[in-house]
Amino acid sequence: MTPTPISNIVLEGREFLVKRDDLADKYLTGNKFRKLHSLLKTPKLTFSKIISYGGTQSNAMLSISAMCKQKGWEYLYYSKEISKTQEEKNTGNLYLAKMLGMKHIQIPHAKYKTTINELQFNLDEKTFLIDQGGAIIAAKEGLDALAEEIREQNPDVKALCTPSATGTTALFLALALPEYIVYTTPCVGDMEYLKKQMSALANIPNNLVILKPKKKYHFAKPYPNFLQIYKNTLESGIEFDLIYSPAMWECLFEQTDEKILYIHSGGVSGNESMMERYKKIM
Ligand SMILES: *Cc1c(COP(=O)(O)O)cnc(C)c1O
Repeated sequence: MTPTPISNIVLEGREFLVKRDDLADKYLTGNKFRKLHSLLKTPKLTFSKIISYGGTQSNAMLSISAMCKQKGWEYLYYSKEISKTQEEKNTGNLYLAKMLGMKHIQIPHAKYKTTINELQFNLDEKTFLIDQGGAIIAAKEGLDALAEEIREQNPDVKALCTPSATGTTALFLALALPEYIVYTTPCVGDMEYLKKQMSALANIPNNLVILKPKKKYHFAKPYPNFLQIYKNTLESGIEFDLIYSPAMWECLFEQTDEKILYIHSGGVSGNESMMERYKKIM
């Protein structure tokens, strides 16, 4: 694969660089593409089915669907029950993932945890289970490849950044690039939750700096200041995602002052349905 390009932008009077992993593929974008790198290289016949689970706005859900279509693998995705309106929407990640062939299975809230925990015990050798958000150890391989790309492109910065859900991306990048500072911020749960998630994968290195959000935000909830940040960043000529990127930018603007390479992990396909939710509250 040819390396994704690096763009220059100016935001809030500061220069930033953007690693355009959002351009890697239409649906298989950004860090999901990187995390699925080793599965993408796996011969088709190794598996017949992929199982995953999580939220129905998930970018990972959509990327896995694109991968399974490409591979001819069956794809089952478990989520908690959602409303009929959500289920029947014809925009957004859930719609796109189903268009690509994903089978969506809804589980009543009360049974969700047990059902998910039991998934791992009922797998045959042709079935592969991907934990929520693509938090798999195998993700290391793809993120190492990203790190190598960055090292070769040798951008004129000493720091990188990427917002966190599972923290897999930030953690493996920081481990692979000890010569850079890697900034991140928790978008799902708080600082403690993020550290716990990361520690389950590897020891957190010193060059990984977790910035504390200005206030407690709930994941994927619409916030007027996030929409404002989204609009400001759009003026740079690059569209960022409406869920993760505003939280990261807010931390960068307020808590850092150096030039930083922002790893753009895509997720823009979810903006349309997020925008609809913004219209309702504004
Ligand atoms: C999934 C995702 C993240 C979070 O990645 P983790 O490795 O789970 O921390 C960040 N940004 C975007 C756009 C994503 O889709």
